[in-house]
Amino acid sequence: MRLSMIGWHGMFKKDFPIFKKTDMVYLDTAASAQKPAAVLRAMDRFYKTAYSNVHRGQCAWAAAATKAYEAARQNVADFIHADAANIVFTRGATDAVNLVAAGMAQTLKPGDEVLISIAEHHANFVPWQQACLKSGATFQVANILPSGELDRADFARKLTPRTKVVAITHLSNVLGVLNDAAALTRSAHAVGARILIDAAQSIAHVPLDVREIGCDFLVFSGHKLYGPTGVGVLYGPADALANLPPYQFGGDMIRQVAVSETTFADAPAKFEAGTPMIAEAVGLGAAVGYLNRIGWDKIRRHEEELMEYALAELAKIPEVRLMGTAEKQSVIAFTLDGIAAEDIGFVLGKKNICVRVGHHCAMPLHAHFGRAASARISFGLYNDAADIDRFIAALREGMRFFK
Ligand code: PMP
Repeated sequence: MRLSMIGWHGMFKKDFPIFKKTDMVYLDTAASAQKPAAVLRAMDRFYKTAYSNVHRGQCAWAAAATKAYEAARQNVADFIHADAANIVFTRGATDAVNLVAAGMAQTLKPGDEVLISIAEHHANFVPWQQACLKSGATFQVANILPSGELDRADFARKLTPRTKVVAITHLSNVLGVLNDAAALTRSAHAVGARILIDAAQSIAHVPLDVREIGCDFLVFSGHKLYGPTGVGVLYGPADALANLPPYQFGGDMIRQVAVSETTFADAPAKFEAGTPMIAEAVGLGAAVGYLNRIGWDKIRRHEEELMEYALAELAKIPEVRLMGTAEKQSVIAFTLDGIAAEDIGFVLGKKNICVRVGHHCAMPLHAHFGRAASARISFGLYNDAADIDRFIAALREGMRFFK
């Protein structure tokens, strides 16, 4: 273990009030991250000082709430190097993928193709499968290599002028493998396809620049970015959002409404029908501010050291089988020879160690590996070497029990 871990890892844990009075080891950030005090404070302050609905009110609270909501949009935009006009607040990554898939399904027709990968989370799998079933388009699924990396040759074979949409994960929530989003975007654009990047996992763990990636759509959830649940983001450049029909209809998304017809507002308002998640957006803006104050250098170093240490410790247990051997970021899924993943989860849970067991909303991926379920640990800023030590000790103890 590198000595630097002892120094500043504890510094982050103290930012998260939930850890103050518990011995809980939380290794489930890929499912949802814990919240720093900065986020809790921002939401509390908002409700206590400036709460109102946004956009149309005249009073000071309405103006302040609108300002806070739009400031959050700007914070999120800056975080991924986008313009605020290109940031749509959604309910989460799932909601954002459904928004795009429902819109694209209206133009897909038999003979068109949609290309995803076998490593997709169900959130970026089922909406496209259903869009294909509805429109008669063909659903294409690119393979991965035994290492867990995307099979680029298979991807290239399945990417043709018939491909209208590519939807692919940036960072797999099981394999921890980071795809080259910019390269995939260039390939998709070369055949005239739109591309959606699922950044639900990458957003909190790797710096992301949509100008470099160049994709048409990018989605993520606030709750995996140390922000609240109930808010997420769809990013799209102006032309991609302009060409996408609205997903839901109602207040705030219109320009003119008459009995005979309605004209819609420009994006992002076009996609934000109804009262949005105002305090949640404020909380997400604060989460981004928190990460900005730490800086990517420290975030990356912290996670790389945790990953290196955890992999080294797991490698000492001969029964451990990793899901994919390629370089991993922030997520390690594994099975144990002779012991069911559910049993591992049970033993660890009893010892106050939160890991996740099951298919992790990636059934096709598990089927591809011939495994029904796996155990998964995933890291956040609050984890430290002691968390991994306790996890490994409990895992060894559990293995003795089940053998
Ligand atoms: N994509 C990936 C890769 C994910 O890991 C998740 C959440 N586990 C999602 C999409 C969906 O995110 P949410 O449930 O927040 O909508």
